[in-house]
Amino acid sequence: MKLYSKNNIKQLASSMKSSGRFSHGFILTGEEGSGRKTAAKYIAMARLCSAPAENGEPCGACRDCRRIESNSHPDVIWLEGDLPSGGYSVDHIREIVADVYVMPNDTDAKFYIIPDGEKLLAAAQNALLKIVEEPPDYGYFIFTAKSKSAFLPTIISRTVTVGVGECTREECTAALTDMGKYSDEDIAKAVSACRGNIGKCVSYLEKGEMYDLCTAVQGISAALIASDSYTVLKILSFRKNREDFRKVLNMLDCVIRDSAVIQIMGSKTVISGCAEDASETLASMITRDRARRLHEVITETEHMCSSALNINIKAAACYVTDALSKII
Ligand SMILES: [Zn+2]
Repeated sequence: MKLYSKNNIKQLASSMKSSGRFSHGFILTGEEGSGRKTAAKYIAMARLCSAPAENGEPCGACRDCRRIESNSHPDVIWLEGDLPSGGYSVDHIREIVADVYVMPNDTDAKFYIIPDGEKLLAAAQNALLKIVEEPPDYGYFIFTAKSKSAFLPTIISRTVTVGVGECTREECTAALTDMGKYSDEDIAKAVSACRGNIGKCVSYLEKGEMYDLCTAVQGISAALIASDSYTVLKILSFRKNREDFRKVLNMLDCVIRDSAVIQIMGSKTVISGCAEDASETLASMITRDRARRLHEVITETEHMCSSALNINIKAAACYVTDALSKII
């Protein structure tokens, strides 16, 4: 298993393995798609590999490594599946706590990987607390979340927090090419839109949510540049729901932000949005003050849609299209 651009995790897990002092709790933080689950697998591999290298690196080829990679290891338990909308329930957590006291099946350790820590409400975390504080010798927990602020201080104090960073564009391109499924041209488009986030690039290439969002934002950006407010309105008013509408606005805000950054820094190296060509054109078209006003209108509309106000998407689309067209 290749772990792209995650040297901090490689080194940490390998050194824990070779020193014989493996932490029983981890919080892996990073953006969606940044490879948190892959990093969790790597940590479990480093602990369970039956033929590790001298420096503690897992071999990736033994039976344990292979079963971890294919999600079929009986001692690596993933808490996934359909969560109720409120997140992990206390009953759900009690089942895990009971399971932790059952000895491992095949090895001398048992890993529980709990993704999306944001969905662990305080009551569920409290139910987990004792077992995370004092796990049996063979018990290990790996949580993932956008940030460690999702967790209670007591959980944070018993775990090691590791940031999972995105790859460089080159590493991301190499990872996508290694998958052997996509053309160079498609990979270049995906990396231009989603940069070093492998998960988002795959969603883009598989024509999933990222493709849909990027296409919408690129369409709006091009239409704004062409003063075509009809197209801006059309794209915005047909978004699926408020959440989706807000995601589009949020990504459009990044494109505007990039244009201001290009003006200041004069380079595209710090791009965070999904439409770098549009950002570059906007940078040559509008003043920094106008970019700031566009940003204000977008965030104001986003806020309107997230607050308790019962704004419908079409009304919000009309409002923001009108305001943006006046500024540009
Ligand atoms: Zn191995």
